[in-house]
Formats: sequence, structure tokens, C-alpha cells
Amino acid sequence: MKAFFAEEQKRHDPKAFLSSGAPQPNPEQPERAERLLAGAKSAGLTIERPRDHGLGPVAAVHTPEYLAFLEHIFARWQRIEGASAEVIPNIHPIARTGSYPASAVGQAGYHMADTACPISAETWQSALWSAWSAVEAAETVISGAPAAYALCRPPGHHAFADVAGGFCFINNSAVAAQVLRKQAARVAILDVDLHHGNGTQGIFYARPDVLTVSLHADPVRFYPFFWGHADERGEGPGLGYNFNLPLPRKSADAVFLEALAVAFQRICAFSPDALVVALGLDAFEGDPFGGLSVTTPGFSRIGEAIAKLGLPTVIVQEGGYLCDALGDNLTAFLTGFGGKQR
Ligand SMILES: [Zn+2]
Repeated sequence: MKAFFAEEQKRHDPKAFLSSGAPQPNPEQPERAERLLAGAKSAGLTIERPRDHGLGPVAAVHTPEYLAFLEHIFARWQRIEGASAEVIPNIHPIARTGSYPASAVGQAGYHMADTACPISAETWQSALWSAWSAVEAAETVISGAPAAYALCRPPGHHAFADVAGGFCFINNSAVAAQVLRKQAARVAILDVDLHHGNGTQGIFYARPDVLTVSLHADPVRFYPFFWGHADERGEGPGLGYNFNLPLPRKSADAVFLEALAVAFQRICAFSPDALVVALGLDAFEGDPFGGLSVTTPGFSRIGEAIAKLGLPTVIVQEGGYLCDALGDNLTAFLTGFGGKQR
């Protein structure tokens, strides 16, 4: 199986975010990419550089005003006297009214859900190349490969059509799913990250052609708090095409695999032509976020179980933060999935 990654994806280097109100070092570090690259190589994957795919595949799931914001906000922010080095919002619309602010500060609040997605000079290019890795993996599967892995960093599943959040700017899993739609009439997205894939859910919430399924720590007391509950089922034509499986905190392998089996029932009933796996590794028992307790062998079993679905599959990297086992967890998942043979 091929893996895709571009060096530009390492340039985004966020400094801080607010955790329970206190400034903390931002955990979405460039070093994550190094660890994940090593993990993919250990699983026997070959790493290739994606091509420049332009804005088209990104604009297919994000609004034009949001993409213009991402591209230009850093330069505009620098012209504000006394502004912070990174773009960080300090006001948000509680309910949008349809009006769009002209100021950089107003637009930052409009397009950024929280303080965990600071924008620096390198963010736009890093996020674009991350998305292009997802596009290349999806194109590879469209061309007949049974599976491909996109080492997407920065990650994407908290990014809505016009909102960044939770370390995410461009929703790579949504981009991959939309590319697959060129050939696949129905695409399922299975999100196994510790956190609910709220951005992905938001992008496809009213659509019946892309099923979104997410397993995650129960958001009643965990990020992203306002999304990821079991009663969020989709809307309009998309009603019944979104499925959330919130899990009790510290759930370990057995509970996770049981929930995965429930997710598979829903996915099989949808009869998809292709699958996107939003692969967060932060459900790990030793991840700094400490929300769930999946083990390294557990990731291997998760990979093995997903492979048994037998669907053309694009694996998109989401979360998973710096800890000794980060690379090993990716190796375990990809090996369980049968990465080398595919
Ligand atoms: Zn996560």
C-alpha cells in the first residue's frame, strides 16, 4: 500500500492553545509527522509525495470565503498594531445572522471555533499539502488500488465547511470522500479518532450519499462538547445518514471493538462503494489526551476488523499525539489492516 506525505506539511508549527483557560504548548507538533512516517515505514509502506491538485478538491467541501480567509488572514493579521504572532480568535458569533464581518478580528471569530487552531505564515501551505495527500490517496484508490494511506498533518476532522477548530483547517477526510464520489455512488466515512469528527459530520449532515459514522469519547464531558451525541442523526435528505457512538471515558479494546461491530452493521446496511477511515490514534491508553484506553495490539485488531469489510479504502490520518508509542500504534493499525500486502 502506498502512503502519501509532503515535507511542506511539517512547516505549520503552532505554539500554544488554551486548555481549561490556561496557555499550554500546542500538542499538534511537526514531530508527529516524523513519528508517523517512521510508523508507516515500519509497516512496509512506501512514502510518495502527492502532486499539487490545486484548489478544486478542497473547494468541493469548503466555502470560497473560508478558503480566502485561510490563505490571506495571516498577512492581514500582521497589519494590526499589537496583534499576536499567530492568528487566534477572541470573539465568536453565538448565532450567525448571515452578515459577514470585514475586519480580520471579526473574521477570525467567524471562521475559528476555538484557540487550538492558530494560523501562522506556514499554515495555509501545510494544510493544502495535507489535503493533497488525501486527494492523492483517494485518486490512487480510484485508479484501482485496494487501499492507500494519507499521512495528513495538520489533521482535518474538526474543520467544517467554513470553520477551523481543534488543530484542523481543511477537512482531509471529507476531501478524500468527495474525490471518491467521482467514481463511488456511496461513500462511508468511519471516524475512530478519540474525538468526535464534528467537522466531517457538519459537512455531510444533510447528504444521503456520504454516510458518517464516528466512535469517540462521550462529548458530554469531552471535546468537542456540542457535537457527537447519539441523537445527532442527520437532517433533511441526510436524516439517518449520520451515526454517533459515544463511548464511556477510559473504554478499552473490548468496548471499542464492540462499538466498531455496531458501526460495521450500519456501514454494511448502507452498502457503500468505498470507505474513508478517519484514523485518529489518540484513543490510545498512553495518549496525552487520556480519553480512552485502546492498546497498541488493539489498534492492530481495529485495522484487521476494518480490512474484513473488503471495501476500497482510503486511510486518512487524524489525531494521535506525541507519546512513545505513536509510531508503533500506526504500524500496528496498518499491519493489522494488511498494509504491506495491499
Ligand atoms: Zn482527536
